[in-house]
Amino acid sequence: MWTTNWRDTVWSQLDREFDLIVIGGGITGAGILREAARAGLKAVLFEQGDFASGTSSRSSKLVHGGLRYLRNAKIKLTYESVHEREHLLREGRGLVIPLPFLMANFRGDKIPAWVFGFGLSLYDILALKWNHAHYQPDGLRGLCPQLTSPEMIAGYRYFDAQTDDARLVLRVIFEATQDGARALNYARVEGLLKTGGRVSGVAVRDLAPGSVKMAEVRARAVVNATGAWADGLREQVRGPKRMRILRGSHLFFPSAKLPLARAVTFLHPRDGRPVFVFPWEGVTLVGTTDVDHGAAPSTDLRIGAAEAAYLMDAVTHAFPGLGLSLADVQSSLAGVRAVVDTGKANPSKESREFVLWNEAGLLTVSGGKLTTFRLMAQTALRAVRAILPEHPRLRWHEHVLDPLPPETTVCDLPPELRLHLLGRYGNEACNLAEVAREGELEAIGASPSLWAELRWAARAEGVVHLDDLLARRLRLAINLPGGGLAQMERIRAIVQPELGWDDARWEEEEKRYRALWQEYYSPP
Ligand SMILES: Cc1cc2nc3c(=O)[nH]c(=O)nc-3n(C[C@H](O)[C@H](O)[C@H](O)COP(=O)(O)OP(=O)(O)OC[C@H]3O[C@@H](n4cnc5c(N)ncnc54)[C@H](O)[C@@H]3O)c2cc1C
Repeated sequence: MWTTNWRDTVWSQLDREFDLIVIGGGITGAGILREAARAGLKAVLFEQGDFASGTSSRSSKLVHGGLRYLRNAKIKLTYESVHEREHLLREGRGLVIPLPFLMANFRGDKIPAWVFGFGLSLYDILALKWNHAHYQPDGLRGLCPQLTSPEMIAGYRYFDAQTDDARLVLRVIFEATQDGARALNYARVEGLLKTGGRVSGVAVRDLAPGSVKMAEVRARAVVNATGAWADGLREQVRGPKRMRILRGSHLFFPSAKLPLARAVTFLHPRDGRPVFVFPWEGVTLVGTTDVDHGAAPSTDLRIGAAEAAYLMDAVTHAFPGLGLSLADVQSSLAGVRAVVDTGKANPSKESREFVLWNEAGLLTVSGGKLTTFRLMAQTALRAVRAILPEHPRLRWHEHVLDPLPPETTVCDLPPELRLHLLGRYGNEACNLAEVAREGELEAIGASPSLWAELRWAARAEGVVHLDDLLARRLRLAINLPGGGLAQMERIRAIVQPELGWDDARWEEEEKRYRALWQEYYSPP
């Protein structure tokens, strides 16, 4: 639990020397902080915006082996990913959940159907789980009646997993802080400090409203886990620009408009890229695009008109009978990823594997996937160990996330809510249920989130701005029509007193949220 004065407390502790500074509060930084805390290092993480406000709340929310990587013969990446998926499914119950997939093959597909059969066999062998099956069109329609296209010729059923990406980051950061690490959101690293030409700390500025705090923080190792922003800090150690910034966007439909019980994936009729459509937290997600961003990385991102048209083409190709149009879209979300720029004409051909560079003592870890965050963290910590040789040998724990108590032995949570709350809040789930007032264990509109989660997150989860709460602690910006603006009166009644905001601050925050939603989350 982040207590009321947690920010002041962390700021007051920044004058000590740390073993490790982690810059960036997405899944990469979170994973590194977690493993560092486990290894007994004194570690602190700085995130310039909210935790997970970068790519890690804007992913496609799949915890997956990455079937498409097999196409590029990336067997190692796929093997590692399916292995991590299995770990996360076991340990992240309620947060990482199995997702049945149908792969639909259409006449004219750029890759013949048997190739997928071969790929899925390999996929299952790597996971040591024989889990796929071949279907004729009628069989596929039996599993997904919305697949009405007469052009569908066959398909497969297989399994992957999905998550709430922002909640995964929060859970990992929270568990790291429980283990002694420190983490600050709205704390931007503005400069690298050097000793004898090597990076030995950072200058950090507090971006929370009304604060003018700045600090110079020293550590023996500094990791740049700023994802798509990585080149910005590398410039300060004369690292040449190496990253190519790609944008990927999603559309979300209300479930009633595009009702699916399982994920459907297929090749886009235009360019043969795999696209997917699946149910996620009360809405149906359609993703994704993969285009050069053509601008500096930012969280001020919006889906482009051409990307929206591309995704709509995919939807009408697979589900022609639903008569969907852009007017049916409820919300959208775009994110940027960094890949190492090798100049390939097609952005989708650039490798998705992560990189680790040591430049004048600045360790940069970038690229990779949400799914493989622990492997990236372990690789980063091996490099940290080379800088801290006297540090005791790092021991790799088998678990990614802290073990949860068995569902049946925890407090009196309503059985239908147990997994949802345990997965998101871990051992705090009971505390959350205890603070719920009457009627607050009910869902907020069509979202699966509860009113009690809103109260808990406002009270205990490091919220600085209203959008931290509505776009990331809960995902109302995506899974409620209009970003939940119609529910603002009740949201305010719960949240304002919990955050201790006066009316002026509330109005400012509500205005900020309305503008952000309109600009970056609204339908195209
Ligand atoms: C469209 C899209 C879909 C994807 N889908 C999937 C998927 O389904 N499954 C999967 O496994 N992977 C997926 N990925 C990949 C995955 O999302 C990313 O690999 C992962 O989220 C990157 O995490 P990160 O922590 O490296 O970067 P980020 O989450 O971007 O974190 C970096 C953070 O650094 C912060 N920062 C930058 N500069 C500073 C500074 N000076 N001081 C302090 N903080 C700073 C930023 O604010 C940011 O929050 C997807 C990626 C994209 C773009």
